[in-house]
Amino acid sequence: MLSYQHAYHAGNFADVHKHLTLHGVINHLLRKESPVTFIDTHAGRGLYPLAAEETSRLHEYRQGVLPLWEERESLMDEALLGDWLAALVEAQPEPRRLSHYPGSPWWMGRRLRSGDRQLLFELHPGEHAHLAGQPLEGDIRTIHGDGLKGLVDRLPVKTPRLCVLIDPSYERKQEYVEVAQALLATLHKARHAVVLVWYPLLPAGRHHELLDAVKAGGVRKVWRSEFRLQAPGHEARGMFGSGMLVVNPPWGLDQRLSAAMGRVAPLLSGAASYRGDWWVGE
Ligand code: SAM
Repeated sequence: MLSYQHAYHAGNFADVHKHLTLHGVINHLLRKESPVTFIDTHAGRGLYPLAAEETSRLHEYRQGVLPLWEERESLMDEALLGDWLAALVEAQPEPRRLSHYPGSPWWMGRRLRSGDRQLLFELHPGEHAHLAGQPLEGDIRTIHGDGLKGLVDRLPVKTPRLCVLIDPSYERKQEYVEVAQALLATLHKARHAVVLVWYPLLPAGRHHELLDAVKAGGVRKVWRSEFRLQAPGHEARGMFGSGMLVVNPPWGLDQRLSAAMGRVAPLLSGAASYRGDWWVGE
């Protein structure tokens, strides 16, 4: 069953939280010269025109990236958020008009250097066709296949460093545990990998299965970052928050992300809140 299509949700509050976190991690990794392999296990289409039929059905970006775009002049003084917004301008065919929202392959691959590599997995045939049709520059491969299996099968990588984003749609309940298993297998083969895992905060609370399995699996250095649109206790229906685990986070990511999300939260909802903490310490 593959019915999820990210185009319906492109640029929503969860994308902002996820891609800001990814941006903060990548900025830090690219400070050092040694090459990095970037793996995106659930890549999606790569680029989302906001006028597309699917995206204009729900207009979720109006409670996500759009308020930030409209306030971008006043947000440029915030280091991580300002840099992220400047990159977002680069993704637009017309720099003054927000017409496209770039997905994780773009945020990951936009500054690949010689020696860096990017592997993009996408299982949905239609979504993969969109992705493969993107003008990708550099050592980038798109693979039509299962990202969790593909990730573990390709380890260890040839570059000295590895950065992985695991961003499933969680259409199946078992995915929470499967993601934890793939994360443990990845760290078994590549102990120093920086791995980002996105999860939704939903009333059913299934993300606890993922978090508990990671803790029980003995992984160390796991940073947890959660952004809620609604105050705890008012999570009536649907996705009320976005969560990320970052294993082996770069030094200072917590402060940079807290500062950026502190500026994002009030623009998206009066009740929005951000929290970061160690899920498992060193
Ligand atoms: N990472 C993207 C971004 O941030 O722009 C969004 C990805 S979306 C949440 C999840 C994607 O995973 C969908 O495009 C879906 O078709 C794809 N997918 C679902 N199961 C998959 C699997 N087992 N392996 C690879 N891709 C899968």
